[in-house]
Amino acid sequence: MSANRLVAPSSCRHCGLDRHEHFGRWITGAGWHTFTPPDQTLIKARMLARRAARTP
Ligand SMILES: [Zn+2]
Repeated sequence: MSANRLVAPSSCRHCGLDRHEHFGRWITGAGWHTFTPPDQTLIKARMLARRAARTP
């Protein structure tokens, strides 16, 4: 995943795809997986990243 693509805080912890469009997915690293909710640490990190991206 590229660094400048922001994902929803609650999207898949492995690939960042939303739950409703996930189904099964293969990515380098995690391999074939189904939607996996992120833990609180990852949600917080994503929120901070989105906030930082909005700041000029
Ligand atoms: Zn995923």
